Amino acid sequence: MEIIAAYPKQRFLPSGYFAYDASEDIVNYDPIGIKTNSGKLALLHEISHAMLGHFHYRFDFELYAMEMDAWNKTRELANKHKLNINEEYINACMDSYDEWLTKRGTCPKCNEFNVQNKPNEFKCYRCLTRWRVSEDIQSSIRRIVIK
Ligand SMILES: [Zn+2]
Ligand SMILES: [Zn+2]
Repeated sequence: MEIIAAYPKQRFLPSGYFAYDASEDIVNYDPIGIKTNSGKLALLHEISHAMLGHFHYRFDFELYAMEMDAWNKTRELANKHKLNINEEYINACMDSYDEWLTKRGTCPKCNEFNVQNKPNEFKCYRCLTRWRVSEDIQSSIRRIVIK
């Protein structure tokens, strides 16, 4: 709670999960989770997104870059709050993004990994299948084939 008190200009909501809602400029947090060190890091991570003004991304690699930036900022804030920086936790979070990006970019037809050609859309360079992906990181990875 002392972390939240340190950011009086930021709005916080005890939603039960950690996420920064850029459209409302609200940091959602888990009031039970923040009692642990990783929970505190997760909270600082979302605060970092808010402080860096992360708003919207169009391409997956932009999201990945934002995540890296946010973790760098989190390390800085963690020092300020005298928290242990759990690199393993940070790596696990980045790995889950990696996995997410890999799943999205993998062709549903031939399993070839592709880079994004349009926001929320991929086209396989090998078999020319096109598919759409959801914009929302929280929602499951859905690949919808476009005919
Ligand atoms: Zn993040
Ligand atoms: Zn393919």
